[in-house]
Amino acid sequence: MFESYRNEIVEIGRRLWARGFVASNDGNISARLGPDRLLMTPASVSKGFMTPEMMVITDLDGKVIEAAPGRKPSSEALMHLVAYRQRPDIGAVVHAHPPTATGFAVAGIPLDRAVLAEVVTTLGSIPIAEYGTPSTRELADTVAPLLRSHDGVLLANHGAIALGKDLFSAYYKMETIEHFATISLVARQLGREHLLSREEVERLQGLRGTYGIASPAPICPDPGPGGVTVDPSCQIVVAPSSSGERLVADTSVGGNALTVGNDGEIRLTYAQLTELIDEAVKQLVQKA
Ligand SMILES: [Zn+2]
Repeated sequence: MFESYRNEIVEIGRRLWARGFVASNDGNISARLGPDRLLMTPASVSKGFMTPEMMVITDLDGKVIEAAPGRKPSSEALMHLVAYRQRPDIGAVVHAHPPTATGFAVAGIPLDRAVLAEVVTTLGSIPIAEYGTPSTRELADTVAPLLRSHDGVLLANHGAIALGKDLFSAYYKMETIEHFATISLVARQLGREHLLSREEVERLQGLRGTYGIASPAPICPDPGPGGVTVDPSCQIVVAPSSSGERLVADTSVGGNALTVGNDGEIRLTYAQLTELIDEAVKQLVQKA
């Protein structure tokens, strides 16, 4: 039964593996079959080489209803169960370890800046859930509050999770998260990250309605200068309040771009720091 769901899970597993979003037996995929029924990848298999009959059917408490001999539900079943309980609107969950997005999760950097119009419209922001030991209730509990208002969440020192109305919608969100992470990384390496204005973010949010994009929560209103929004019922998207203003300003020392955050934090390379000190010493010597 549920052949099409089984086949889609096999196909998505193959894509996750082929794109390097998982290694070894990492990752897991599930779909809602009914009010109290889930179809889930089994534990301890490579997602690149699954077959339709391997999948396990459980109820919403994780109790096995149907499984091939020797097959157990995914080791991350608890996180999937929590997602379905928090979000009656979703029909599928994909968890993987895509390397660039996971790199952001390891560095503790959320993907929350207004950089790509497509991402602002579809996912809003991708926050980081605090670290929880994989396969435990602890992980499920740290992710749960963020899943209420986000379709994509990074898991600190672990990976990412994406939710969707169906299997492919959840999988495509995982692709978007990794693509966004890769573009953000390249922009940061180039030393410049021009953000979309708050006004543009609001315009993009308006498009959600026009295109019928279902989002679990609106984008948080501008927290104002220095303000931090902690409202868990909306998505925090970092954007400058007017189009002329840049949160990440471009300055340069000796032709090298520096990054200045809105909190005044500046990141310098060793060479840039040395150059600044040399400059300061030169000025002092001139004054003396
Ligand atoms: Zn994992």
